[in-house]
Amino acid sequence: SPMKNRITDIGPRKYSEFYPPFIAKNKGKWAYHEILEPGVLVHVGESGDKVYTVRCGTARLMSITLIREMCDIADKHCSGYLRFTTRSNVEFMVDSEDKLKALKSDLAARKFAGGSYKFPIGGTGAGITNIIHTQGWVHCHTPATDASGPVKAVMDEVFADFQQMRLPAPLRISLACCINMCGAVHCSDIGIVGIHRKPPMIDTDWVDQLCEIPLAVASCPTAAVRPTKIDRADGTKMNSIAIKNERCMYCGNCYTMCPALPISDKEGDGMAIMVGGKVSNRISMPKFSKVVVAYIPNEPPRWPSMTKVIKKIVEVYAANANKYERLGEWAERIGWERFFSLTGLKFTHHLIDDFRDPAYYTWRQSTQFKF
Ligand code: SF4
Ligand code: SF4
Repeated sequence: SPMKNRITDIGPRKYSEFYPPFIAKNKGKWAYHEILEPGVLVHVGESGDKVYTVRCGTARLMSITLIREMCDIADKHCSGYLRFTTRSNVEFMVDSEDKLKALKSDLAARKFAGGSYKFPIGGTGAGITNIIHTQGWVHCHTPATDASGPVKAVMDEVFADFQQMRLPAPLRISLACCINMCGAVHCSDIGIVGIHRKPPMIDTDWVDQLCEIPLAVASCPTAAVRPTKIDRADGTKMNSIAIKNERCMYCGNCYTMCPALPISDKEGDGMAIMVGGKVSNRISMPKFSKVVVAYIPNEPPRWPSMTKVIKKIVEVYAANANKYERLGEWAERIGWERFFSLTGLKFTHHLIDDFRDPAYYTWRQSTQFKF
């Protein structure tokens, strides 16, 4: 048939083609799994097969050299297979205890010139796993903060909890560099979210050349953008845009549609901290994260004010929550007033929600508010 060799799907190949043989064999027939030690899991099949997994943190944005080294490790120990988790941990799997021992000591011996681990083992169970994050200043067009930079700074601060499981329950930290939140900030135990605090600037020289003005108008959720006409130097009129600043909630949607409305601003940009979200329905229903710090300025390269807040929240949670209680469950049990007094965070009017929908009122789950 003429259709026989037609390529109808040019996307990635089906994931099942990449299963290691022992995973393909036991798929859907696992009896149980357990964490043997931080970063090391065993899955036991109904057949009695055992698969040992070693989980390592990654930087998410990685050099080709480092990825090649991962491939070499996979070739050496794991018949050429490896996998990444949704939080950008890399996992190496082997099918015997002897292979596990050799893999672990090989990984632990690989270090950067400065002495830090290339492949730190950990990120399982009641600890802090890799921080899921977005693109930041490296790549995206609307970030209010960086992604990789603050994530590295936070991870350095809480690294001991990547390698151990002393916390009451898993603690998931996420970062999204703007309120589009292409990270998982809205449902994480601790979320760091980049926020703008000023309306976009209007680059009048370019508006009529770069933008479809009706599209820019339609993109604004608060109807702050409207078409207008301005004078050219020669006295003629040109189409442009006007923004009603008091309506703007600094979301950056209009900039996504119209590159002549840049929103990044050194003084206006920074980050908010959200806590208490989770996707698990263990003990209690899944929860959205809630804003607990309305604004922290960008302080590259090490973001000291933000990392101090995160560290404090982690330590207070570790010292006070009951076993198995996620951060949001603990805060709800003791009451948010006590959460603020124990963490020393200041409650400000920015944290009071102004949504009218009863599903949301009483506590702020959005960073879209006025400064
Ligand atoms: Fe871009 Fe926003 Fe996603 Fe950051 S969170 S990568 S700025 S869309
Ligand atoms: Fe509207 Fe958001 Fe643009 Fe402000 S930043 S003008 S609210 S689209």
